[in-house]
Amino acid sequence: MNYIGCHLSASAGYAEMVKTALNIGANTFAFFTRNPRGSKAKQEDPQDAARAVAMMEENHFGPLVAHGAYTMNLCTKDPEARAFAADILCDDLRRMAALPGNFYNFHPGSHVGQGTEAGIDYIASALKKALEPGYPVKVLLESMAGKGSEVGASFQELRDIIDAVGSDNVGVCLDTCHIYDGGYDIVGDLDGVLQEFDRVVGLDRLCALHVNDSKNPFASHKDRHECLGQGSLGIETFRAIVNHPALRDKPMILETPNELPGYQKEIALLRTLAE
Ligand code: FE
Ligand code: FE
Ligand code: ZN
Repeated sequence: MNYIGCHLSASAGYAEMVKTALNIGANTFAFFTRNPRGSKAKQEDPQDAARAVAMMEENHFGPLVAHGAYTMNLCTKDPEARAFAADILCDDLRRMAALPGNFYNFHPGSHVGQGTEAGIDYIASALKKALEPGYPVKVLLESMAGKGSEVGASFQELRDIIDAVGSDNVGVCLDTCHIYDGGYDIVGDLDGVLQEFDRVVGLDRLCALHVNDSKNPFASHKDRHECLGQGSLGIETFRAIVNHPALRDKPMILETPNELPGYQKEIALLRTLAE
């Protein structure tokens, strides 16, 4: 059975998210580790985390794919803001230790004119520091659409970050909207794109997927998510994804423009598409 879920609100705690996931037919989910557009994190509640872990085990959940705040830019220009982002990354991983064995995904960052190479250096050094304490969490670089000065829109940039960090605890989360917008034709040639990913990054590094359709055409570098089957990717692309031997065992997270009932429908749809 595929691990399929969506983004859920973390406001009522971990156990409440597991209950919501069960209600909508999900067996994984994503959540923001702190306010997605700010930096505030919730008070920690170890009992709540333990309850969630037990419920997930009982219901055979796949790994969760937590999401770092959008505002956390590890390669921003101002040294103080950069150090603050690196501290947030470290604190997020420490908090994630309450949910051992799950994934922490984040946007690598935007180099804001400093150049990709400088961006990669900053991202890698922040990751190295945060990974040092040995928290039981794998960090995932999200593939980006290449909007503005985003780092991580090409497989090579993801590889370069991974190499610069030099840790087994770094993987990749492929966002279907982002890579299609970024110029990887998963509609026309999913196999070819995955072969390219394997050659450049290595499929052993692929840990999770964000499953989104796109409001924009191929290689538009725009990053606007659409509901499944209503955008430029189309339903057949998602059928191919949920059945692909290199993808079907990965947690798949919906980030489509939906509320819970819409997510429930899309989760059911993906399960129907899975042969
Ligand atoms: Fe994201
Ligand atoms: Fe995403
Ligand atoms: Zn996106």
